[in-house]
Amino acid sequence: MAEGKLFIISGASGVGKSTVLKKVMDSRADLQFSVSATTRAPRPGEQEGVSYYFVSKEQFEQMIQQDAFLEYDAHNKNYYGTPTKEVEQKLQSGHMILDIEPVGAFNVRKKRPDATLIFIEAPSWEELERRLRGRGDTPEDQIALRLERAKWELEQKEKYDYVVVNDQAQACAERILHIIAQVADGK
Ligand code: 5GP
Repeated sequence: MAEGKLFIISGASGVGKSTVLKKVMDSRADLQFSVSATTRAPRPGEQEGVSYYFVSKEQFEQMIQQDAFLEYDAHNKNYYGTPTKEVEQKLQSGHMILDIEPVGAFNVRKKRPDATLIFIEAPSWEELERRLRGRGDTPEDQIALRLERAKWELEQKEKYDYVVVNDQAQACAERILHIIAQVADGK
């Protein structure tokens, strides 16, 4: 069986990526989510092995030594990385979505030039800030860091294959599903 296609989705904290991604995943049974490893603490409701593999800084650095990552990056004072095994195994049985930020996205593109990069942006900067604060699960010092990071991320969007606006989650998910259908099914 041919390997599945790789899709990378990026978007700043607070852009509403998780809601959109859930809708996308729920609509296509042949899409699998790549579970990343991170050193950040779990948020309420996040599950080990589903949202992330939550590991210590020492464990993460050991994985770097073992060359276990397809890509990794340190941002917002934590490490985040895509385990190579996760991607290689899951691509055997379907298409995959990686939710990673631009540095990781561009590093994956170097190794897998056929990956499709999709950037989700908020309708406006004010709206992004409002959503991030409104989520209520991120401490104020992290909000400042994430907004600073978001500004830089937004400047990277031109390098993506597609940019979609999350004005409304369902509509945004449908735009992404349309892109996936084009790339994966040739529709
Ligand atoms: P959060 O802490 O809100 O879950 O994620 C923060 C940022 O880390 C998001 O932009 C997300 O896309 C990114 N991220 C999550 N997993 C990975 C990963 O494995 N590699 C990289 N480079 N970024 C990741």
